Order: sequence, then structure tokens, then C-alpha cells
Amino acid sequence: MAGCIETMFYNGISTPSIGFGTWQAKDDELEQALNNALEAGYRHIDTATVYENEKVIGKVLKKWIDSGKLKRDDLFIVTKLPPCGNRPSGVATYLQRSLDDLQLDYVDMYLIHTPFAFIECGDMHPMKDGKIMLDMNTDHVATWKVMEEQVDAGKAKAIGLSNFNITQISKVLEHARIKPANLQIELHAYHQQVPLVDYAKKHGIVVTAYSPLGAPGLSKFMEDMNQKAPKMPNILDNPVVDEIAKKHNKSPAQVVLRHGVQKGLIVIPKSTNPGRLRQNLDIFDFELDENDMSKLNGLNKDARFLDFKVFPGITEHPEYPWKKE
Ligand code: NAP
Repeated sequence: MAGCIETMFYNGISTPSIGFGTWQAKDDELEQALNNALEAGYRHIDTATVYENEKVIGKVLKKWIDSGKLKRDDLFIVTKLPPCGNRPSGVATYLQRSLDDLQLDYVDMYLIHTPFAFIECGDMHPMKDGKIMLDMNTDHVATWKVMEEQVDAGKAKAIGLSNFNITQISKVLEHARIKPANLQIELHAYHQQVPLVDYAKKHGIVVTAYSPLGAPGLSKFMEDMNQKAPKMPNILDNPVVDEIAKKHNKSPAQVVLRHGVQKGLIVIPKSTNPGRLRQNLDIFDFELDENDMSKLNGLNKDARFLDFKVFPGITEHPEYPWKKE
């Protein structure tokens, strides 16, 4: 992709700083969108066992690789250990399941999706009496050891964490033989996570911003889970973003994505719309100046949109990462 900025991890592996998010994208819609995304130039794909879309992704990737249009090496594939597999005995099983579904021999990045865990019962989100069924015995250090074994076995090029807080990351770092390379967290103009990003940078961990557009599709997910969607401000309607977008002749989405990339983050916007997914990639032919950056930095209001409270009872888990918020 022309002019694309690359991000390098501490272990020398690098990836395009923009990836294709796939949460809430499935079946035929995703198949079409992923074809469009690969045509447009996306090479970094973000998925997870819980998105239940790895088979579709695997089918599309296989076609591209078999046809010779792409080599496996051209791609950067990220997937994640689900909360129901978040224990030492779950790691190899769930990673192998992802590899089988993705039709790959290895993933480029394997992340522990959340610091909390659900019980293992074959259901991604096991519920009983209206509450999520938590496994309270989560041991990050023990699970991390098995994550490291996946790198040794060549099944993951690198490993990392998602939705962990500073205390949780520091505990993993203290005991790690192979350091986490990547931290994937909610990060957008309204939730810039400055202390966590600074901490990660200090420890050589690359940060990936999920929901970089402020997750305008989140209310649909809440409704699908039979939950009332909170009223969330839409970053893409913010007048400051709009003014900067007009100045550069770009869209608000392109401005907030460029803001993330210029701060040294990887951004992984999701779109299944052919025009919008191309637009999101087209952020390497302009630069935000210091004044733009400081105005965008000033939009931060520590507004977390995705706190997983859609799963009733989740805050009772000892490793729920945002107890103090
Ligand atoms: P997002 O990328 O911030 O927003 C996606 C929403 O924005 C979709 O509704 C999309 O609709 C719309 N959109 C996309 N491009 C747009 C544009 N240019 N203008 C206006 N609207 C646009 O939110 P997200 O899906 O929550 O986050 C992105 C990815 O991060 C996910 O797909 C997933 O891969 C990852 N993620 C990880 C975690 C985790 O726990 N680790 C959690 C959440 C997300 P259309 O598709 O119709 O364009």
C-alpha cells in the first residue's frame, strides 16, 4: 500500500500500521469485504475466536495464497485466545482451532483477549441465571508460559495482551521469558489512554488501537445482546475533527486514524463497506501538523465505550481490569 507506515515490534517483526478489523463481520458480507480489503491493499487482519469468523477469513486467504496473488509472508494475521479458554490448558487448543479455521500454519500475533476468564463449556459467552459464568481462578503468569510455548513451537510469531491494565501487564512482564510484543486496547480521540500507552512504550510494547473510530457500530452489538445501548458521542461528528478534516480535504474518519498512526499506534478500523474500507486506508498522503495533533490530543475525555459490562456480573471477576473507573 503506497506510503503506508510500518510498525516494528521489539523482536524485529513488522506490520503495516493500519489493519482490517473484523468484529461484527461474518459470512458472505465479510467474505466480500475481505476480498475488497485485500484488493485495496490491507495486509494486517485482526480477528478473534469470539468473532466466530475465522473460517470465512481462512477461506478467503487460502484463495488469495493458492492463486499466487499473495504470499503468506505478505500478511500479518492477529487472533486472540477467548475468555472461555483463558487458562494454561486452553492456549494450545484454541490456537490450533484458530489455525485450522484460518487454514494457516502460524499466526503473526496471538493475544490473550481479556484478563478475565469464563468457564469452559463450549459456549463463547456462557450464561446462567442472567449472569456470565466466570472462572475466578485466572493465573496470567501460568497462562503466559503456555503462550510462550506457542512461539517456541512456531505457531505464533509473537504474543501479546489485550484489555490488560498496567498492574496486570507488569506481572506478566516480571515473569516473562518472551515479552509481550503488543497490547491491544480501546483507543480513540475520546479515550486516548495516555498513562497506559506511555507504560507500554517504556517497556517496548507496541500499542494497537481498537475501536479507533469510536465504535459507531457498538449500539447495534448491544441491541443484539438484548442490552440497552448507552448514548455515546460520535467522534466523527466532532466539530474539531470536522474542521481538521476540511483543512486537509479528508474525512473525519481519516483524520482520527491518521492521528493514531502519527502517535505511533497501529489502528484497526472495521468496515465492510467497500468505499469506507478504502477510505480508511487512504491516510498516508497527508500529515497532521503540530497544531492539529494538539487539538486532537485535547479531545481526550477518558470515555471508555467498551467495558464488557454487556456481560452481567463481569465486574465480579478478580481480574476485571477497570474496577476503579
Ligand atoms: P471501529 O473500527 O472504531 O468502528 C467500526 C464502525 O465504524 C462500523 O460500524 C463501521 O461501519 C463504521 N465505519 C467504518 N469506517 C467508517 C468511516 N470511514 N466513516 C464512518 N463510519 C465508518 O470499531 P470496532 O469494530 O469496535 O473496532 C475495530 C476493530 O478492533 C474490530 O473490528 C476488532 O477487530 C478490534 N476490536 C478488538 C477488541 C478487543 O477486545 N481486543 C474490542 C473491539 C474491537 P461499516 O462497516 O458499515 O463501514
